[in-house]
Amino acid sequence: MPIQKNIIDQVFPETLKILTNLIKFQTVSGTSNLELIKYCEKKLDEVGVTSFKTFNKSGSQANLFSTINGKDNSNSKGIILSGHTDVVPAVHDEWTSDPYIAREKDNKVYGRGTCDMKGFIACTLAVAPLFASKKLKAPIHFSYTFDEETGCLGAPLVLADLKKRNINFSACIIGEPTSMKAITAHKGYNEYITHFTGLSGHASNPESGVSAIEYAIRYSNKLMELRDELKKRNSTKTSFSPSYSTLQIGKISGGIGANVIADQCSLEWEVRPVNKDDGDFISKNIDDFAKNILLPEMKKNNSKGNIKKEIIGEVVGFNKEETSEAANLVCNLTGDNAKDTMSFGTEAGLFQNSGISTVICGPGSIKQAHTVDEYISFDQLKKCLKMLISLQEKMAN
Ligand SMILES: [Zn+2]
Repeated sequence: MPIQKNIIDQVFPETLKILTNLIKFQTVSGTSNLELIKYCEKKLDEVGVTSFKTFNKSGSQANLFSTINGKDNSNSKGIILSGHTDVVPAVHDEWTSDPYIAREKDNKVYGRGTCDMKGFIACTLAVAPLFASKKLKAPIHFSYTFDEETGCLGAPLVLADLKKRNINFSACIIGEPTSMKAITAHKGYNEYITHFTGLSGHASNPESGVSAIEYAIRYSNKLMELRDELKKRNSTKTSFSPSYSTLQIGKISGGIGANVIADQCSLEWEVRPVNKDDGDFISKNIDDFAKNILLPEMKKNNSKGNIKKEIIGEVVGFNKEETSEAANLVCNLTGDNAKDTMSFGTEAGLFQNSGISTVICGPGSIKQAHTVDEYISFDQLKKCLKMLISLQEKMAN
């Protein structure tokens, strides 16, 4: 399709420019994304959209939902292009160059968020004028959320708002990095930090204190036991890889030195359940263990002893739809009929639970997400542009 290739070539430099601008906003999860949202809103305003925003409690973070109306402003079912605006942190010294300054090399763009998932957002913003240039059969919506990486905190707010506004949708495409493959299911994602409070004392007299580290280790051992149980629970093969629910402790912090009894320790851990039952199984068992076994022992020497499990996020799984309008649409647009599943969490389950047919398909490889020297290739960005331009053509005809 030479015409389409021409359009891609025209839009591509603008895509790179937008991506470079998006990378500059250091929108690490939990921090303000307002400047980035302002930038996206301005871009979309230029092509004529109606927008609304939803905010976190303090007003420091926002979701943006913008619409290019369909013909006759009819309430026909539209399509959502959805991306999250937050990125995981980057340690400057580990990177070859500043993670927040886009660097182009060997037909790749390097920078935090290039692949997960500002590359997709850049593509949607670059193609927005094209969508606005013709009367569309149905509306096209742009949804940019905050704090996806820390438990999908933004998306529920925008979904609740959409419900109030009574807007109907036919499909949602979530542009997480899937190398432009259609993903139709993923596991849930539960993330926790468990805080242990002991009692400080001199190491020469262990009885004088309560070691928070010791209790964190016992708690960890219980988690490892439960992790092994998870493997046995799903005898029926799922389509996931690995096929069972997983549990991982990713960070342990506490103590100040060998000769001091640690009064503080914390564990950061996660569960990726193949079904809700497995997630509930872990929560119930570890909570019971902490409450009935560890806590009474801890409190013996120290009434202030405590174990507190903080829920960072519990992201619902994304289940395979019998016939997925969204997956069929994406396969039709990309010309790739393969449908797959994956093991990382996204906002897809939330959109799906709101009754919207959903698919995950976006540029970049998941292998690049959250890594040092994260990048996205030009080729992947162009493939995404091709999908969006095909969508525009389909909606304009
Ligand atoms: Zn992501």
